[in-house]
Amino acid sequence: MHIKIYDAVVIGAGSAGIAAAVAAARNGARTALVEAGPSLGGELLTGMTIDGAINARGEWIIGGVVGDLLDLCRKLGGFVAPLNDWRLIHYVAYDPEIMKIAIPQLVFGAGVDVHLNTFATDVVRDGNRVAGVIVRNKNGNTLLTASAFVDASGDADLCSMAGGTMLPHEGMDNPQPVSMMFRMAGVDAEPLLDFVRAHPEHVAVGESDAIRGGRTDAEIVEEIYRQGQPCVFFRGDGPLLSKAIARGEMYPTALIMIQPTCPPRKEVCINSTRVSLKDPLAPAELSGALRTLVEQVHRCSAFLVGNVPGFAHATLSGLAPRVGIRESRRIEGDHVLTRDDVLEARKREDGVAKGCHHVDIHQAGTGQIRIPVAGGGSYDIPLGSLLPKDIDNVVVAGRCLSASRDAHGSARVMGSCLAMGQAAGTLVALARRQNGPDLRSVGSARLRNTLREQGAILDGTA
Ligand SMILES: Cc1cc2nc3c(=O)[nH]c(=O)nc-3n(C[C@H](O)[C@H](O)[C@H](O)COP(=O)(O)OP(=O)(O)OC[C@H]3O[C@@H](n4cnc5c(N)ncnc54)[C@H](O)[C@@H]3O)c2cc1C
Repeated sequence: MHIKIYDAVVIGAGSAGIAAAVAAARNGARTALVEAGPSLGGELLTGMTIDGAINARGEWIIGGVVGDLLDLCRKLGGFVAPLNDWRLIHYVAYDPEIMKIAIPQLVFGAGVDVHLNTFATDVVRDGNRVAGVIVRNKNGNTLLTASAFVDASGDADLCSMAGGTMLPHEGMDNPQPVSMMFRMAGVDAEPLLDFVRAHPEHVAVGESDAIRGGRTDAEIVEEIYRQGQPCVFFRGDGPLLSKAIARGEMYPTALIMIQPTCPPRKEVCINSTRVSLKDPLAPAELSGALRTLVEQVHRCSAFLVGNVPGFAHATLSGLAPRVGIRESRRIEGDHVLTRDDVLEARKREDGVAKGCHHVDIHQAGTGQIRIPVAGGGSYDIPLGSLLPKDIDNVVVAGRCLSASRDAHGSARVMGSCLAMGQAAGTLVALARRQNGPDLRSVGSARLRNTLREQGAILDGTA
């Protein structure tokens, strides 16, 4: 078997993994980024907005690597805007085609050694440490050794292979549905916004007091109109969509979420499709879902063209490169982030990343739990939620963090994943500098200082 020696190995190149790899490399660690798929960025390439970066009061709550990534998008002409959804959150819209250029620029620019089409298949364990990860690609197996590892696989593959403890799947008889994001170009914002202004009953608005700010529904749709962007959420229980579901034209869904990706192409990203699986990690189930999801994409786009002003001349312009999984494994770490941590906007002295997204749990059919964070504020994600309790030199980042199911329903969004990634990569690099594989010896205070110096936002927000 080939052997490659690094200081840091990051498994998974979604939002969390790219931020972790960049942070580790910038802090002096020789870093490998291992990605099973053919591209860097995961869901960042689908066109979905970055949630969890700006709280419902409009304050940025994360910075650092995410700021650099968005600056690159801006320079390349692919930054749309921070927008208010006038429902629950503020989010960041960008062009995913430009993001496909910005991410490699950021990652290669930091000096990361990228391994695409390479799957982590096993680990070599040495007591409480992982000594190496075995990866497989068309060249066969390679052992990647490092003093520490970041599990940013989304599914906690590395921790699972290392025998780490996973949290019980409470409420996971029905994991959140899988979805296929898609994009449509040629959408005219003006007629769409006129329609919404005339029919507030069709759209989801003002679900958080911080966003509503005492406005009536009619006043809120006026704000959506004034914002001037195709940023509209048609409700599954509103007259337009519920009737289409009842007559079988649309499949049961909680919302059709429409968000801008590229004003010159008049393009929007649409989040609506859904298939409930018993186990999203079972290849047969996931593969079977693809068939239904692409059929739903076809139905939803036809429904919009046929029924929603502004879509008359729109065409399908892109499908996500993969079926999107919202939840699978979560590790048990030193701290389990709780529902109260999230909903009460708790701040902590050992916080190394932040979140602000509502508890957002999609359910089968038309169901979805949406509970806003108190006061439209943000909560801290402690270092302990990233440290698997039984492994010394692995840190997780992203949606496999140690969190209750409800807390995960908030922290899973890409803003929080990017912030966790920066914290995880920086931690590994700091541990290496003090010549120790034990990540706990770095301490949250030292990590927080370095993160602050490098642009992360840890203090001073609601
Ligand atoms: C349909 C859908 C809509 C969503 N909408 C939004 C939204 O609007 N805004 C928002 O902010 N968030 C949204 N989310 C949530 C968010 O996209 C994800 O939770 C987030 O991207 C997770 O990032 P991650 O880096 O933890 O994991 P992932 O993005 O899943 O990345 C993990 C990466 O690891 C790789 N990998 C996995 N196992 C291995 C292995 N063994 N070896 C090598 N590589 C491996 C995978 O190929 C993948 O690229 C949505 C999610 C879905 C599914």
